[in-house]
Amino acid sequence: MEEPRTVPETSEWKRTSTHEDVLAFLRKLDDLPHGKRLRRHVIGKSSEGRDLVLVTASREPLPADKNDRTAAAKNTGLLRLFVNANIHAGEVEGKEAVQILLREIAHGGHEDLLEHAILFFVPVYNPDGNDRIDRKNRVEQNGPDGGVGTRHTAEGYDLNRDFIKVDTPECAALLRTIADIDPDVLMDLHTTNGSAHGYELTYAPSLAVNVDDGLRDFTRNVFLKEIRAAMAREHRFHVFDYGNFVRGKPENGWVTYDHRPRFGTNYFALRNRIAVLSEAYSYDSFPVRTAATRAFVVETLHAAVRHRAEIRELANAADEQCKNRAVAFRYDSELEDPVVDEVLLGQLDHEEIESIGRRSKRVPGVEPVKIPTRVAFVAKKSVPLPLAWVIEKPSSHVRALLEAHGIEHRFLDAPEEHDIRDFVMTSTKKSRRAFEKHHERAVEGAWSEDAHEATVPAGAVWIPANQRLARVAAQLLEPLSEDSLTTWNAFDDEIEAAMQSAKVHPVHAVVR
Ligand SMILES: [Zn+2]
Repeated sequence: MEEPRTVPETSEWKRTSTHEDVLAFLRKLDDLPHGKRLRRHVIGKSSEGRDLVLVTASREPLPADKNDRTAAAKNTGLLRLFVNANIHAGEVEGKEAVQILLREIAHGGHEDLLEHAILFFVPVYNPDGNDRIDRKNRVEQNGPDGGVGTRHTAEGYDLNRDFIKVDTPECAALLRTIADIDPDVLMDLHTTNGSAHGYELTYAPSLAVNVDDGLRDFTRNVFLKEIRAAMAREHRFHVFDYGNFVRGKPENGWVTYDHRPRFGTNYFALRNRIAVLSEAYSYDSFPVRTAATRAFVVETLHAAVRHRAEIRELANAADEQCKNRAVAFRYDSELEDPVVDEVLLGQLDHEEIESIGRRSKRVPGVEPVKIPTRVAFVAKKSVPLPLAWVIEKPSSHVRALLEAHGIEHRFLDAPEEHDIRDFVMTSTKKSRRAFEKHHERAVEGAWSEDAHEATVPAGAVWIPANQRLARVAAQLLEPLSEDSLTTWNAFDDEIEAAMQSAKVHPVHAVVR
């Protein structure tokens, strides 16, 4: 089962794979007894022109052509499970674990998964970052000694902040692929540094506040709990909700990260499907991190297959609610009230590596403590969805973003009379600090109480709220959305101009 070997396996876990190493490894799998179950597809190019490769695993090989492949995958009725690795290319465990899993499949393994599911893997989502291997990246991490790639892409973007603004070719390619395949479950594989905790891996569901309630409750209360139990029972790995001790002190409590859908798993669940973030632990050794990630992927895929009927039912119900406009848009989010729970403390040892810096390693021994935990967000406010949103003069940038997210929309060929509500801004500000080559914008204000009759001009874009992706559309368009096209400067010119006159936001709500 262990041939061909991955780069870490042939280097005593001193090195990680380059992009070409991964492609060469995948080619070798073709010759294994069940190599035909795997198919490679190029879904796009990185900014430096490296291929973004998707590997499909299915009992019956999928056609090479993209449209045939999607149709074939959907026609089987099998579950579609998607695993994205190496988004932060210094966090290499997902890339290595995926290669091992694919080898197992090519040897005839995971028959039980393939009976009910088609698996989709992107082993290297950030190939440009991956190949910038340097010992000075992630110095504090416990190996590999040969170094790892960079967090950022060649253009300097963090791909895990790009899911609303889609500035990168990598994100555009992934969104197209996801829109095409429409996976039931998506996993995004990372590695985390941070607090001295006692877990081989931490995880999170989507933390976005606008996720469908049924899907959210199932993911948090059933799906992830079962996966957690299986990780302990089958693999002796301790896993828990992602978080950190506040200011490094356990007595201050354990708190998760961020609810905004600029993060991939937060975003993906707004499309009414399940998303799971996986974070191996930097201070465990490289082989342990890879084994924990492999086990977590396997157990998540198994849990998905076990619950396949329920997952499809919940997703369909969530889609129907969106199509019937039976959702409200939530905003003004904060961490949920603390819940006292048992969290494992861990211990770290440190080692000075000459001319590079300090490396941290986890040492054996964990201590359970009962402390306040806050691993989810709630929204304090909400607004009902309109019939549709309209933008009178959509810029090419806005049009491209609606397209990139797969949002249903149409352009008016002739003026139309409608009842419209305006969002009147009381103030707006841009952050002074540049972040991901933007200065994030926030607006304050409110939707007008009363609608007024208006002529919507030809050329305006009409975005119906009764569509399957209503939650994504609202996230992008609602002026009070906490991570939106407004946030990422797509309406800067219109907003600056409006503040000099009637202070009306460029996105209008149609009520009739
Ligand atoms: Zn990461």
